[in-house]
Amino acid sequence: MSRGSQGITCDFDDRLPGQRGYRAQTGFGRRGSIDGQPQSGHDPGYRASGTCVWVNPSPQQLFTPYYRDLQRLRATAPTGTFGAETRLDSHEWHDGTTTNAIACTLTIAGCQIDFTRPTSSIAGSANLPTNAQIMQSLRIIPIYQLVATQRVVVNHIPHRGTRPNRRIQASAGSGDLDIFPFYSMPSQTVLDARLLHECAHNFQTPAWKNTPESVAQWDMARNLDVIAPSRYATTNTQEDFAEFVMLYNMALDTNCEREMRRIYPNRCWLMDRYRIAGLARPATNN
Ligand SMILES: [Zn+2]
Repeated sequence: MSRGSQGITCDFDDRLPGQRGYRAQTGFGRRGSIDGQPQSGHDPGYRASGTCVWVNPSPQQLFTPYYRDLQRLRATAPTGTFGAETRLDSHEWHDGTTTNAIACTLTIAGCQIDFTRPTSSIAGSANLPTNAQIMQSLRIIPIYQLVATQRVVVNHIPHRGTRPNRRIQASAGSGDLDIFPFYSMPSQTVLDARLLHECAHNFQTPAWKNTPESVAQWDMARNLDVIAPSRYATTNTQEDFAEFVMLYNMALDTNCEREMRRIYPNRCWLMDRYRIAGLARPATNN
């Protein structure tokens, strides 16, 4: 039994002090574009108003999707199924301990994900989301992004980086998504936000193809756009990517898409290309 990767860890505890401020690198120019042409309509000082204010840089630590927008995505998202369960007698968790566990395959639009969680007696009173909640969150992720998440492990043992005042509720990397105990049972909206962010980290791998040039290109887009989608996005390139992917997913094909493109044209330019490249591949990870 494999351990979770716990690759990229994200701290979603809003009680923590703010992350260090975003410092734009120099040398990339100010107004311009990563494809050599100025992105039309780019106005870093512009802010959306009315029902589209949520595409503006978030004043909160994290980009926080609205319930109504998540529900809109869910209304047209594919349904998912859990396959037959297998009882594992000695599943090894991330800290090396072994207990029994339940394993099955989760399928969404042909995308198959290995799913493991502790049995209820092992999970005890840990605040872990239900299978149904996890399915509801995963199925609103665009399939071309979801294929990058190949294993989901629900852990009753807290992440090793968890402290009394710092709880890591999820981590991702290398196709793994690990979910850890929450402070309290998460609402669907809270879980959606966490899992959308984490699965975006898994999407980094096919999007960037692990090349430094691709990472540098995203950094260039950050600098050209000037502003960040949230305070947490200013932490580093990976967090900026994960936070922006959430915003992009929520705004695409809505009446706020144009506002998003006006504020973050260079990130949108790259995301459009990742999306087109991803859609060109079959929507399965078999
Ligand atoms: Zn993150």
